[in-house]
Amino acid sequence: MIELKNVSKWYGKFQALKNCSVSIQKGEVVVFCGPSGSGKSTLIKTINGLEPYQEGEIYFKTHQISANGGDMNLLRTRIGMVFQHFELFPHLTVLENLTIAQEKVLGRSKSEATEKAQTLLKRVGLQAHAEKHPGQLSGGQQQRVAIARALCMDPEVMLFDEPTSALDPEMVNEVLDVMIELAREGMTMLCVTHEMGFARQVADKVVFMDAGAIVEQSDKKDFFTQPKSERARDFLEKIL
Ligand code: ADP
Ligand code: MG
Repeated sequence: MIELKNVSKWYGKFQALKNCSVSIQKGEVVVFCGPSGSGKSTLIKTINGLEPYQEGEIYFKTHQISANGGDMNLLRTRIGMVFQHFELFPHLTVLENLTIAQEKVLGRSKSEATEKAQTLLKRVGLQAHAEKHPGQLSGGQQQRVAIARALCMDPEVMLFDEPTSALDPEMVNEVLDVMIELAREGMTMLCVTHEMGFARQVADKVVFMDAGAIVEQSDKKDFFTQPKSERARDFLEKIL
């Protein structure tokens, strides 16, 4: 579904990704972890075409992803993205947040988009909040709206970049529960997260990054019980 082959990226002279290769099958849930500044967000952004890369190749199925490519806008709708800070449109209602791209990008009718939005709001337990604005919701509720918004586009892959890092601790689980359900339904998911409980429950694979490189990628059982690198061992000691 997603394949990176020897991807390198520079911000000016600073190399943020070093020869990264990883391959993700349909239905797999892959957790990316590693210290702050190790290149996790950069990697996710290059996969979604939000950041250019200079070397290597990234494929979404048979399509090559490049930030400058002509059909990126269409490709981007096939790949849902959820960020740490929700990134909802503050001046739109929750319902409008979920319908706008369906109408403007996918060309769905207002009634079709509304029906889809209501189904997904129900799914994340927020059907009663459709007419509110994001600012009236808690962080956990806003992040669930962001997930529902991404799902409205019928993505084939979902990318999450630290979706619970900005949340108060008591709201983390309501977001993880939505993600766990999605994983169990077979969604292909790439998740940057330090929630190792989530990784233990649903990850098929854990990828550990350090200083722009993919240091190891293992079955979750192996990663937690016998990490191969010293850096991964140090990292796990700190966060577990
Ligand atoms: P992570 O998500 O693992 O914390 P990032 O991908 O955000 O790491 O960042 C990796 C490295 O690239 C960091 O050293 C960061 O300072 C640098 N970096 C990230 N974004 C930019 C940017 N837009 N311009 C310059 N350097 C950047
Ligand atoms: Mg990051």
